[in-house]
Amino acid sequence: QAKQAGKAQFAHYSAGLQASAQRQLELESALGQALARGEFVLHYQPIHRLDAHDPPMVGVEALLRWRHDGRLVPPLEFIPSLEESGEIVQVGDWVLREACRQTRAWQLAGHRHLYCSVNLSRRQLQQDDFVARVVAILDDTGLAAASLVLEITETHLMQDSNATLGALRGLAALGVRLALDDFGTGYSSLGYLKRFPLHMLKIDKSFIAGLPGDAELEVISRAIIGLGHSLGLEVVAEGVEHPRHLEFLRAEGCPLAQGYGFSPPCPAAMLERLLQDGAASPPLPAPHPAALG
Ligand code: C2E
Ligand code: MG
Ligand code: MG
Ligand code: MG
Repeated sequence: QAKQAGKAQFAHYSAGLQASAQRQLELESALGQALARGEFVLHYQPIHRLDAHDPPMVGVEALLRWRHDGRLVPPLEFIPSLEESGEIVQVGDWVLREACRQTRAWQLAGHRHLYCSVNLSRRQLQQDDFVARVVAILDDTGLAAASLVLEITETHLMQDSNATLGALRGLAALGVRLALDDFGTGYSSLGYLKRFPLHMLKIDKSFIAGLPGDAELEVISRAIIGLGHSLGLEVVAEGVEHPRHLEFLRAEGCPLAQGYGFSPPCPAAMLERLLQDGAASPPLPAPHPAALG
């Protein structure tokens, strides 16, 4: 009888597995058609310069979402799949083109100094013709190289392949700036800062969350900001949610910040309204949850 029950349980379990494998397959096949169907959208999160009284918006980070089944799917749920299948290369191209097009349109509408920051996947950098693709996108959209920041992570650099280094040098030679995203969460080999042509460091939001009060996080954040100053790198604090985060960062001389405290990532139309409100952007209202939608 125990054997019977065990069998039944196994059958139940295996049916569950099959269902979830089935769902995964369906998701992947839907994902494969998402680009052609125009289901990807970009949201934009403002980046503010902290040295003014009302920190003005100087840039935006483009963040990918997928409209699927009546829901806006966040990137961490589908980017790994795109990376595995290699589709991230085409999708990444679309992201770059759309972000450059939109940013150029905002510039032409009067926000001439706005820059755009775009996340890259390792696969994109490994393409032989990546630099040429970026040149083509800048030419087609009319965005200046100096208005584009490309974000990479330490895992991109760990490969340390000549192809990656070559691509980064090519991009820097164009005048595109390179940001090291989630700084401090990976291997944080300081050698990277010397070996690669980087222009910006983004302090990971997990450090900012503990500010001020957590002595270790304070020391780490202060050290990253100091590193930026002494190496001539711009530093962007991510995940700034609360006025106390802002106070700490300003006191430490952190030049740039983004986070829910300023604004969650939002659709282009909403970002446009924030841009129009201009300098009158609210100095850190109460934190609100990410508006995915
Ligand atoms: P990331 O580049 O580090 O982006 C910052 C993430 O933090 C975003 O999550 C953003 O919504 C979230 N965030 C912003 N402010 C706050 C805050 O105050 N508090 C908290 N808790 N979170 C905040 P999102 O949009 O879900 O993106 C997650 C990651 O997906 C990104 O991390 C990036 O690594 C990746 N990603 C997004 N778009 C793209 C893309 O177009 N291409 C590639 N390759 N990766 C992308
Ligand atoms: Mg990023
Ligand atoms: Mg980040
Ligand atoms: Mg991240």
